[in-house]
Amino acid sequence: MRVYLDFLGCRLNEAELEQWRRAFVARGHRVVARPEDADVCILNTCAVTGEAGRQSRQMARRLHRRNPQAHIVFAGCDADMEPERAKAIEGVDLVIGNREKDRLVERVIEAFADTVTMPAGALFPDAAHMFPGSRTRAFVKVQDGCNNHCTFCIVTVLRGEERSRAIGDIIAEVNALVGMGYREVVLTGVHLGGYGRDRGTSLFELVRAILRETEIERLRLSSLEPWDIPDQFFDLWEEGEGRLMPHLHLPLQSGCDAMLRRMGRRYTTADYAALVERARRRIPDLTLTTDIIVGFPGETDDEFATSLAFVEKMAFGHIHIFSYSPREGTPATRLPNHVPSAVKKARSRAMHALMRRLKAHHLARYVGDVRPVLWEDVVAEGQGDTRTWSGLTDNYLRVYAVVPAHIDLRNAITPTRLVRVVDGARLLGEPDLTRASWPRHAQVWNTSSHEIPLFVK
Ligand code: SF4
Repeated sequence: MRVYLDFLGCRLNEAELEQWRRAFVARGHRVVARPEDADVCILNTCAVTGEAGRQSRQMARRLHRRNPQAHIVFAGCDADMEPERAKAIEGVDLVIGNREKDRLVERVIEAFADTVTMPAGALFPDAAHMFPGSRTRAFVKVQDGCNNHCTFCIVTVLRGEERSRAIGDIIAEVNALVGMGYREVVLTGVHLGGYGRDRGTSLFELVRAILRETEIERLRLSSLEPWDIPDQFFDLWEEGEGRLMPHLHLPLQSGCDAMLRRMGRRYTTADYAALVERARRRIPDLTLTTDIIVGFPGETDDEFATSLAFVEKMAFGHIHIFSYSPREGTPATRLPNHVPSAVKKARSRAMHALMRRLKAHHLARYVGDVRPVLWEDVVAEGQGDTRTWSGLTDNYLRVYAVVPAHIDLRNAITPTRLVRVVDGARLLGEPDLTRASWPRHAQVWNTSSHEIPLFVK
């Protein structure tokens, strides 16, 4: 069976897509790069805003137009919002909500594998390259659901109660990924910091077990709620001896205490600032990123100004900015004084301008330093005999490097001198190619080929 996979929305959706890709391939199916080549198109949808839901349904219709013969599977949050509406979309043959996602691959195979035959000898472009950092950085979903009740959040309604995977299963998955050549694993979940509470364990124990029982070279945490980080947690960066990446994504949502109360968040700005201060003291060269909602119901001009000032003080390396969008079924929709859309737009522009300034400043701090970069993909063919590669430092700075075209850097880690900031948003680096390292299972450095270095088993 030939399967095309696509998604909208968050990192968790992307992590699920990557897991499905690996599961289909492990069961002998092909994951293709274009819907036109597929027997089944699977769409992992988003409903975090009304607009995201609309785009999800539009994307399903577009898939059907591109390949009217393909079965379309409509999965995830927008499937849960209104399953009947999803079923009515032309071309959609299967609707799979969040609670059934763990069995998605089996359900799709049961439903469609017997109805299609792979044309003999047919070649289709493989989709591995469409997954950013594919074979370099893997997202591993360790839990689903959330027991918190932030007043704006539809995700907690759609994803249900917290459920964690067993530590042993996760260790086995990480070890398998290491065996496949992955060098970085990113742990993800709807409420990652809640990991293990339903199993009498914790994220601390999970991270410690991964560091001790696997050989993954770089371990990264996705989003952590600020109230989920006890002091002891920072010991892990010392224990990890450079394998736990110096990067934290701590969603702030607003830099104004009155807003945090209305949002149902469980901290004040003072708590948050104290946490950031501790994190920066314990984790050298930490990059701190966050989420901010602008235009939440009741947000006054003064409250927004307070929020902006606090965000500036925290000196974030990057900010995901969302304009508040009411979602039916969440308490925030019933709050008074919804902010007019023109005001939301103006606040979003102001927050974006601040974000760009903070980001440029954060990147400039590292110019002149040498940091390890894991190279992922070619982003541009250069003029003449060069190509531009993109990769990530340990502390989550996106770096670009122009290198001779015959050199394949995919999945290499190189010490890289960061030479300058381009357009205030990107770092240009000079990798030390003589000190490139490859996964322990793949030690062949082949400069005469554009292929991934040979994997020696
Ligand atoms: S912590 Fe809050 S924002 Fe995050 S998923 Fe749970 S309810 Fe939603």
